[in-house]
Amino acid sequence: MSSAQIRYTIAMPAPETHRFQVTISVRGVTGELRFRMPAWTPGSYLVREFSRHVEDVRALSPSGQELPVHKTDKACWVAEATDEGLDLRYEVYAHDLTVRTSHMDGSHGFFNGTNVFFRVEGHEQGPFQLDVQVPEGWISSAALPRDADGAYIAADFDELADSPVECGTHEEIHFMAGGIPHRYVFWGSGHEDMDTVVADTTKLIETEIELFGGAPPELDDYLFICHMQEKWNGGLEHKKSQVLGVDRLCFRDIRGYERYTSLVAHEYFHTWNVKRIRAEGLGPFDYDQEAYTPLLWMMEGITSYYDTLIPTRAGLITQERYLEILGDRIATLRAIPGRRMQSLEESSFDAWIKLYRRDENSVNSSVSYYLKGAMAVFMLDLHIRMESGGARSFDDILRALWARQRDTDKAIEPREVNQLLSEAVGMDLTDQIDAWVRSRDDLPFETMMERFGLSITGKHKDTYTRPKEERGAPAPWMGISSRTVRGLTIVHEVRRDGPGHEADIASGDELIAIDGLRIEPGGLSKRLALLEAGQTVSLTLSRRHELMEREMTLGTRPHDGYAITLNEDLNEDQRAAIGSWLGGLPES
Ligand SMILES: [Zn+2]
Repeated sequence: MSSAQIRYTIAMPAPETHRFQVTISVRGVTGELRFRMPAWTPGSYLVREFSRHVEDVRALSPSGQELPVHKTDKACWVAEATDEGLDLRYEVYAHDLTVRTSHMDGSHGFFNGTNVFFRVEGHEQGPFQLDVQVPEGWISSAALPRDADGAYIAADFDELADSPVECGTHEEIHFMAGGIPHRYVFWGSGHEDMDTVVADTTKLIETEIELFGGAPPELDDYLFICHMQEKWNGGLEHKKSQVLGVDRLCFRDIRGYERYTSLVAHEYFHTWNVKRIRAEGLGPFDYDQEAYTPLLWMMEGITSYYDTLIPTRAGLITQERYLEILGDRIATLRAIPGRRMQSLEESSFDAWIKLYRRDENSVNSSVSYYLKGAMAVFMLDLHIRMESGGARSFDDILRALWARQRDTDKAIEPREVNQLLSEAVGMDLTDQIDAWVRSRDDLPFETMMERFGLSITGKHKDTYTRPKEERGAPAPWMGISSRTVRGLTIVHEVRRDGPGHEADIASGDELIAIDGLRIEPGGLSKRLALLEAGQTVSLTLSRRHELMEREMTLGTRPHDGYAITLNEDLNEDQRAAIGSWLGGLPES
């Protein structure tokens, strides 16, 4: 137990400079103090070295006398506290608008504690005061209690780091969901119908509370910080809040709004899964280095499976549309050759160097634990439902994991997974977990879904210009993706199982002509649509400004979706099973 009193003050006297002014006042300890800036933000598994945005670090005595301060490594500053204490003052440059970083301009100031606050080594236990000093006319919003003077109180550094703060001229929208006070804060224009968003969010929250069999008992306040911007930026979960970066126009179209509700459902699901039910290493956190775990498939895969299922059960996505989304996910997974290079455990463990550091070879070397994780959980859910005759489902696993967590506050160790999952549903799931999580084998969608009463048929979306009678027929396929850069067609990805790889096409090549005829900027798919699968063509390309010719035999484009339909001869048990899975039967 440390007797130090620590107060963090963050001010923004000139927001348009993008610089937060931070003071850490330490009292009650003397001698050397080590101030260390986190290297990463929990929930986003990449070392980002936030200390690179720290500027002008000064140490002062409480009476204002300048004290020596020096660095011992890229993230650590050291100073000697006097008998009265020490103030460490510095600035943080904040002009990176994502959910995991910090951003300030004349319109608002948003920060994540991991980006702006040093941890005082050995003094991570609070309580800490956090004084947020906003410009005239602004307010601040955070999911932290306040003391009599209006300062926020964080129990420890984890809570300080886990409580993002939005400052600006916004209004807080208060609402109750599941008997718990919730608040919405929007930044940016583009949205009109707050009432619908609040009503739909309430449905999602209440569906999740019911699913888990109750909200976390200490959840007495929850904050949504929603940044409306020009493009999607994802979401980040916290114990009592979530930050969303969304396309400002998403509320106006049906697919955009579907994506919004899934994102909200996803991040809110993390209130249980990941923020409380958590893999070993994911709280308390080591902010200085990677927190390796083979279990991100549980944290993110389970959450991704439910992020569309919850809106479906809540009535915000129809059952028919849900099956369409599921079919698209299957197609997306099957189009990734990297799915045979990583198991889900391997993908989880290597998140820090693979999923969060994507490059042109990622499609060949890795598979997302979000996507494959969701699909493996889908397989487990079907298996449990069928083996138990509809009496059990993956929902029971969630309730069991949550009950264990609430009672013991124990993180999940990798070696416990088989036992925890199996016990929750009263059947041994070892073989299924081995096959679907620990091996690199493909998931058996056809067999499992057929047994459940669902048919699955591959389809091609008609996105190409084809002669009318051939609409829907697959366009020929080169197994590459390309980008138009300054009017040039530049190869980006080359799939290791495709014709482009076979024909020695490389990432970075400029595609110039097919059979001696120039490819128009952005016109590659149009040209391809005029050719036939199996046809051999001659490609002219430029590699490092050297012209070369390559022969390529065109392949057949993989399915880009699957139609999932109910079998016609379903018996009553199968109909009941599908109904309880989706919260209702699809109409077709
Ligand atoms: Zn997530």
